[in-house]
Amino acid sequence: MSDEKKLKILIIDDDESIRTMYAEVFKKEGFEVEEAVDGLEGLDKATKNIPDVIFTGIIMPRMDGFGLKEALAKNVTTSNVPVVMFSHMGRKEDEEKAKQMGVREFFVMGMITPNQIVEKVKSTLGDAGEYKIKFSSSELDGPKLAKDLHFDEKFQCKKCGGNLDLALKIFDLNKHEFSARFVCSKCNGNGNN
Ligand SMILES: [Zn+2]
Repeated sequence: MSDEKKLKILIIDDDESIRTMYAEVFKKEGFEVEEAVDGLEGLDKATKNIPDVIFTGIIMPRMDGFGLKEALAKNVTTSNVPVVMFSHMGRKEDEEKAKQMGVREFFVMGMITPNQIVEKVKSTLGDAGEYKIKFSSSELDGPKLAKDLHFDEKFQCKKCGGNLDLALKIFDLNKHEFSARFVCSKCNGNGNN
């Protein structure tokens, strides 16, 4: 990814050794890394320099990981930034709360290697900020669209036969502008090959 724009990750935790370790791991993978010591500093940094992904712990002074997620969601500029959370204790109720709040991934430290975490974060970024929509392929201009895109009229993936969904990505939230693509619900392919 040398000639691409670097992906920016914001690592937030009060444990310096955790931050330092993950900063190194993500830098090695080509990420631009920023660090913050708690939710409040993280929120401040995320608002000033919007990251592509936020990697945060839960228990921190001043503002914890959940408070951070809530604050990010309320801010238009940060509401679409994917949040990945890690826990030291692995409490089930924390994981459930995280999922309810829209946290993309929840890791329990010690249950997964740093490299596995990096891989998961990368795959999260692949469809970051995307919303998959089911649509009725036979109505309105569906058949014409299928023809123009060389899809079959039922909008099924040519590779695996799965149904194709429409994936919308917010382009400009204020103007309600989106970019769109088709994505196979089974193999995640583009439907054509
Ligand atoms: Zn497919």
